[in-house]
Amino acid sequence: MDKVKVWNEFLEELRLKTSDLTFNTWFKDLSLINITDDKIMIAVQYQGQKTHIVNNYLEMISEIFLEITGQMKQIVFYLEDEYKPEENFNVIEETINNKDTTDFVNNRKTNLKSKYTFENFVVGDANRYAYSCCKAVAQNPGKLYNPLFIYGKSGLGKTHLMHAIGNYIVANSNLKVLYVTTDEFMNEFINISKNKGNKEENLTYIDLFKSKYRDIDVLMIDDIQFLGSATVTQQEFTNTFNALRDNDKQIVICSDRSVDDLKMFEERLKTRFNWGLKTIINIPDFDLKVKIIKNKIKSEELMLDLSDDIIDFIAANCGSDIRNLEGTLIRLLAFKAIWGNQTLTLENAREAVIDYTDNMIYTDNSIAKILQVVSKYFNLTVEDLKGKKRSKNIANARMIAMYLCRILTEESYISIAAELGGRDHSTIIHGFEKISEEIKTDEELKNIISELKVKMSE
Ligand code: ADP
Ligand code: MG
Repeated sequence: MDKVKVWNEFLEELRLKTSDLTFNTWFKDLSLINITDDKIMIAVQYQGQKTHIVNNYLEMISEIFLEITGQMKQIVFYLEDEYKPEENFNVIEETINNKDTTDFVNNRKTNLKSKYTFENFVVGDANRYAYSCCKAVAQNPGKLYNPLFIYGKSGLGKTHLMHAIGNYIVANSNLKVLYVTTDEFMNEFINISKNKGNKEENLTYIDLFKSKYRDIDVLMIDDIQFLGSATVTQQEFTNTFNALRDNDKQIVICSDRSVDDLKMFEERLKTRFNWGLKTIINIPDFDLKVKIIKNKIKSEELMLDLSDDIIDFIAANCGSDIRNLEGTLIRLLAFKAIWGNQTLTLENAREAVIDYTDNMIYTDNSIAKILQVVSKYFNLTVEDLKGKKRSKNIANARMIAMYLCRILTEESYISIAAELGGRDHSTIIHGFEKISEEIKTDEELKNIISELKVKMSE
C-alpha cells in the first residue's frame, strides 16, 4: 500500500466533505505518522485540536479511510511529544524521493514561508532577547553568533523567527538560505543510506545531498530534538555542521529544550551547539498575548473585530501556546460567520472558545484566586469582599472582583454570586455591567483592571 497516496487521498476527501474554514482550522496541519495493519497514526499540533477532532470527526475520518483502504482501522492521534520519531520511518521512506534533492540543487528552493517575518512578530518581555539575537544574525549572517541556538516550548514562535531570519537574508543579500526540519534532513539522509544497493545512482545522490546542505550560506534546522535517537544521522549532521561552520556559514538551530536537556545527543554535537549563542523564548505574559491577538485580528487572514473584553478573555484563558491562540481566533471567525456576522459578545465568544480549548482552559483562574488578588491589591481581606460592608472602597473592589470573575473564569453569575458571600446573582450582573461601562471612560479604572489581570496571569 502506498501510504502517502492513501494520506493524500484522505486529505482530498476530507477537504471535499468539510468547509474551507473547518478544513483550515482543524485538518490542514495534520500529518501522517504511519499506517500499520490495524492502525492509522496521525500527528496533531495541540491538545485542543485533538479533542475537537476526536469528539466531532472521528467517525467521518474512519469512514473515509475505510473507503480508501477497504479496511477498518483504528485511528490514533498523537501530540508532538507523544510519539518517537523512529515510528515515523516507514512512511518517510516512501515520502522522500531523491527528487527533492535534485529539485533543490537545480532550483535553489529555500523552503521559506514568506508569511513569517520580523515585521509581524510581536515583541514583548518573553521574546525580546530572542528577537534581537535573530535580528542580529539576520543582519550579519555567519559573522556574529554561530550557531544561533533558539529554544523554548512549542508554539512560542521559534519557527516563525527562523523563517524571519531567512526571509530577511534573502531580501537583503544574494546569500543561499536553506530551511529544513530535522525530520526532512533525517529522511533524506536515511534514504540515501538505504539506497546502498544501487551504487552508482547512490553516489550521485550523496553528492547531491552534500551539495544541498553544504553549498549554501545559511542552514536553518528546526526541531533538532528529534535527532536524539538517530545516531548515524547525527554523525552526518555533525559533518555538515563542521563543513558549514569552518567556512563561516551561518547555522541556526531550533529546539524545544535547552542544549543540556537534549537526550541521546553525542557530546561533541552538544559542545558545538554551545559554541555560539543560545537564546530562549519564554512563555508570553498577559500583555504580550493581548498584543499578539490584536495584531493577528488586524491581519488580512483574519480581519476579525473583537472587543477588548473578548481579547482579554482569550488572553487570560487560552493558555500560552500562540498556535492555540490563533486557533481560538479562527474558531471565533467561524462562529461569527455562523451567527450572521453580528457583533460578537463576550457571551458568544465564551461559548465558541469553550468547545474549542476544552478542559485546558479555566484551570488557572478560579474565583478564589481572583478574590485573593483583588483583596490584596486594595489592602482588604477576602472576607471583606465576601461580606456585607458597603463602604465605598470595599463596594468598588467587590464590583471589580465581580467583573474579573466574569471575564476570567468560566463561572455562571449564580456561582460567582455564591462565592461572593451568597449575593443575589442580579447584583453580580449589575456589578459586571457597571464596571464594563465605566471602564470605557475611566482611564484609572482601566489601568487598575489591567494591572489586576497581569497579576492574575502571574
Ligand atoms: P514554535 O516553532 O515555537 O512551536 P511557531 O513559530 O510555529 O512556534 O509559532 C506558532 C504560531 O504562533 C505561528 O503561527 C506564529 O506566527 C505565531 N506566533 C508565535 N509567536 C508570535 C509572536 N510573538 N508574534 C506573532 N505571532 C507569533
Ligand atoms: Mg516550530
